[in-house]
Parts: sequence; C-alpha cells; structure tokens
Amino acid sequence: MLCFDVDGETTALSEDPGLARRRTLMSQCEYGPRVGVPRLLGLLEHLNVPATFFIPAYIAERHPRMVRAIVAGGHEIGLHGYLHEKLAGLDESEEEAILVKSIAILTAVAGVRPVGYRAPWFEVNPWTPLILARHQVAYCASEMGDDAPYFHENGLVEIPGQWMLEDWEQFAFNADPAWGFVPENCGKVFDLWWREFEAMHDYGCCFVLTLHPWLSGRPSRVQLLEELVGAMREKGGVWFARGREIADHVRLHPESIRSIDFDGVASPNFFPT
Ligand SMILES: [Zn+2]
Repeated sequence: MLCFDVDGETTALSEDPGLARRRTLMSQCEYGPRVGVPRLLGLLEHLNVPATFFIPAYIAERHPRMVRAIVAGGHEIGLHGYLHEKLAGLDESEEEAILVKSIAILTAVAGVRPVGYRAPWFEVNPWTPLILARHQVAYCASEMGDDAPYFHENGLVEIPGQWMLEDWEQFAFNADPAWGFVPENCGKVFDLWWREFEAMHDYGCCFVLTLHPWLSGRPSRVQLLEELVGAMREKGGVWFARGREIADHVRLHPESIRSIDFDGVASPNFFPT
C-alpha cells in the first residue's frame, strides 16, 4: 500500500496559524500540492500502480484540481483531518465534528465519498474507531499493532503503518520551526525500506509506505520510489492495492488475520459487516 499524506500548508498552519506570514516556510509546504503531487502522479501512471492519498480537508478546499487529478488517475482519496489537528488534544465531540466536516468537503471536491482514515500524526484516541464506524468509514490506517491488517472490536479494519516506513524520519528538515533531522541520502533509505520489504514479503505482511509529497516529490526521491517499486515488481508475488481494496479483502477473508496473542482473548473479536 503506497500512501501519500498531502499535508501541504497544514504542516505549518496546524502548529501555528501565524506561520502563514512566513513565506519560505509556506512555500516549502506548498511544494507538496503544487510540484510533488503532479510529479508523483506522473510516476504512478508510468508504473501503473494505484495509491492512496490522505488529504486534510483544508488542503482539498485550496487545491481542488489537485484532488480531482488524483481521482482521475485512479487513486483513492482518504481522510486526514481538516487542518491536520492532533487528536490527542480533542474530546470525542470535537473529533467527530472535524470528521463530519472533512467527509463533506472531500466528498464535494473529489466527487466520491472517502472510506479510509489516517489520523494526523498517526495518533488516535480510544473512541476514534467508534466515531469512524458511526460515519461509515471502512478502515483506519493509523495504528502500529501488527504488520498485517487486523480488526478493531467494532469491526473497523486497521491497516497498520510504522515510523520506519515513513519519509518524514528520513527526509524532513526545517530550520525554524525546527522539524526533522539531517536529510538522509536515497541509497541509505532504499536499503532501509528494501530490507524491510524483503523480510515482510517472506513473512507475508502488508507493506504500508507513507510518503509526503513535499519530501518524496523531490527529484531524487521520486527516482528512489521508482527504483523501489521496480524492484518489488521484479520480486513478484506483490499486490499493489488501495486502502479500500485491502479493507474489502480482509472483510471477505477474515482467515487472513493471523494474530496470535498468547495473553489476550482466545480468538479475535470481530463482526464482519
Ligand atoms: Zn499528515
């Protein structure tokens, strides 16, 4: 599952709306929707692989043609907050209001109702699965509890990610506000991701790669992604899928859930819809 989190201007604005005056910082954020997304869409078309784009609704409002180009390319649009709000600071009703507003905006702009959710900063609250199910969201892609999909107690599908398979930790840097680390070279990152991919292939896992267009839309990193997907293709036995296809698959094949929790309940508790 290739994921692109199109945070755009919300990367800065969710931290402090006053950062809107900081032109260089904002231009770096805008690079994602303006330059990174078109370039990545070109690569995905060239490779003929589908992807899932999680987009804060604020970004969809400001870049509607970008959203429609993503849909026209055959990719999935997913939810990612309104202004990329950290859920940890919200109560249940505030979180639900943001979700309802985001679904309405993305549906109107994209022309298709999103069914997938990636929490901003990958962090969910205890009640988040209940809110998502209440609003017909089919899957969440925010937790890190396995390396293959699993079910929440209410039947919501979780497609787990991992910080290791994220480009922020490899490539992000901004001087002030201080973001990220020293940007890594692509050779090291290819090695990191490829070794994990090969091992996950052996173990039969779901490889969820999360990329941000302002980082991974830069030229050398687009070529890194091309090299990585090409090598996966050559390896064989790989299904490149959008989130909704993965969620549908695990609902139809609950036997594919293979968690063994020696200290938990005897069998997974799920309620296929
Ligand atoms: Zn994000």
